[in-house]
Amino acid sequence: MSDCLFCKIVAKEIPATVVYESDRALAFRDINPQAPTHVLVIPKAHVANAVELAGAGDGLADDVLKAAHAVAEQEGVSEGGYRIVFNTGADAGQTVFHVHAHVLGGRSLTWPPG
Ligand code: AMP
Ligand code: ZN
Repeated sequence: MSDCLFCKIVAKEIPATVVYESDRALAFRDINPQAPTHVLVIPKAHVANAVELAGAGDGLADDVLKAAHAVAEQEGVSEGGYRIVFNTGADAGQTVFHVHAHVLGGRSLTWPPG
């Protein structure tokens, strides 16, 4: 999608700090980190939200979740624990409508989230 921020990051039209890449997923650091590790994992193809990601039905959701775990391992937070968040819809705070998993870790995370 030509007007999508994360599609532009995939196309390298907007710079990002990429930390992991697979055939169908890309991971880059959040520009406004909320934890020592705060990485966004996206499918390279434009998909609006988590429901559409699951609905793709071709293993794309698996690829994104596997990439999220690979990022956690790479960041050294996989054993201590980390959080994967898909904000879905405006009330949840979703601001970019290209699905993205927030991978958060590196500190003790509180519950419930705000
Ligand atoms: P959400 O509110 O769940 O839609 O998350 C969008 C996230 O994208 C926020 O955490 C922003 O800080 C992050 N973000 C916005 N623009 C950029 C960018 N150019 N590079 C990296 N992260 C970004
Ligand atoms: Zn997009």
